[in-house]
Amino acid sequence: MTAPFVLGWEEWVALPELGLPALKAKVDTGARTSALHAFAIEPFGPAERPKVRFGVHPVPERKDIEVYCSANVIDRREVTSSNGETELRYVIGSHLKIGDHVWPIEVSLTNRETMSYRMLIGRQAISGDVMVNPGLSFQQPILDYSAYDDIAGRPIARRTLRICLLTREPGNYSGRRLREAAEARGHELETVDTARCTMSINVPAPRVHFGDQPLPFFDAVVPRIGASMTFYGMAVVRQFEMMGCYCVNRADAIGVARDKLLAHQTLARHRVPTPATAFAHSAKDTRHLIDLIGGPPLVLKLLTSTQGKGVMLAETRAAALGLVDTLRGLDANFIVQEFIAEAAGADIRCFVVGGRVVAAMQRQAARGDFRANLHSGGTAERVKLTKEERKLAVKAARVIGLNVAGVDLLRSKDGPKVLEVNSSPGLEGIEAVSGKDIAGMIIDHAAENVRSLVHVPDDDDIAPAG
Ligand code: ADP
Repeated sequence: MTAPFVLGWEEWVALPELGLPALKAKVDTGARTSALHAFAIEPFGPAERPKVRFGVHPVPERKDIEVYCSANVIDRREVTSSNGETELRYVIGSHLKIGDHVWPIEVSLTNRETMSYRMLIGRQAISGDVMVNPGLSFQQPILDYSAYDDIAGRPIARRTLRICLLTREPGNYSGRRLREAAEARGHELETVDTARCTMSINVPAPRVHFGDQPLPFFDAVVPRIGASMTFYGMAVVRQFEMMGCYCVNRADAIGVARDKLLAHQTLARHRVPTPATAFAHSAKDTRHLIDLIGGPPLVLKLLTSTQGKGVMLAETRAAALGLVDTLRGLDANFIVQEFIAEAAGADIRCFVVGGRVVAAMQRQAARGDFRANLHSGGTAERVKLTKEERKLAVKAARVIGLNVAGVDLLRSKDGPKVLEVNSSPGLEGIEAVSGKDIAGMIIDHAAENVRSLVHVPDDDDIAPAG
């Protein structure tokens, strides 16, 4: 015959799925529902699958130890506590572990931080084979709070993340795929229109508001900032950084990538080969500018160009002089670049995620054009990269500071040269050509980098003993 399972009026318990390996609980058969003392209780998720996020201070006298948990909501219920107050609480489902025994219970969440027991175990959680002897305490194994000693800064992998996709075009291919990839991994992805964000900067707690509502705290932000939103978008990303969100690409790196001149200077400083490039302010220096890069044929690029829309080829000196004068007359900022003729209208897009080239494609310009951008009618196919090209793409993304980047290379007679590093590379072409789940890789990268105080439960923690 097995010994009866007896609980005293206070016991050490664990809620492994929530990342709470040790809590001191009060066992109170006078109460019906079990309760967990939580703060920052925040509902999220779709109406048909509601979830709730909350923080717990598992060690009563240690406010510095915070564990953030998320769980499925199974109910919202009016609960009256021992002090007679009635409150509408979220009720979650979780497994309770005491000694070797593990069983499912319902727990209501309440914010009463003054209570010396972080958890209350009510009679609903006490099934037939559990006996409670209120005259005794700690009948089951004693745990201690050292389980929380090493959780600061621990990366976590297995919990629902709340991800913000910052974009002006949520319905485009990239936006749709990122949402699908996040949901396939059990994360929640909310799309936020960059232009509708307002920021409260001068308060102790920085926040981002959407319209007149504060946005929730996101674990990670995936910024997809269009060229026209660079300035404002960077400010919004910076604000999220200040709030402690993991931003897949940081604001300053997005700014460097967007500024063609700064990007070229940054690449050059780190000895990343690029086509010879020059820039001048004064009209007096036009001839010199052309000579600096070895004369025609040469390429002129507006600093604001994207999708090849401000890129021009001057095949003769006369054409180059005319174009430079015209652009000057329009007050446009542009760079002058050596034309890599041997690339023959082809460039290579290397897609970098988290310091690795995860896919690559070769783009070929339409007949009669030298610009290989897909937006200007180019076609794309798979390409095998050399080791040197791979290393160069990774280095270019790293020196610009981007975790997710589209690095464009040209194959020149002197080896690969970096043309551009894009901070919001499109997913459609590269996923179609490579057949890979690149959106998923971006979401996984975000998940791996969200740092939190949450303990990662081992499967053994959850599996019932015996
Ligand atoms: P954008 O940012 O507008 O896309 P890029 O610098 O990427 O501008 O240039 C667009 C396309 O023009 C490239 O994909 C490439 O095919 C072609 N191109 C750009 N610069 C050169 C160059 N120096 N030599 C040869 N081809 C070039």
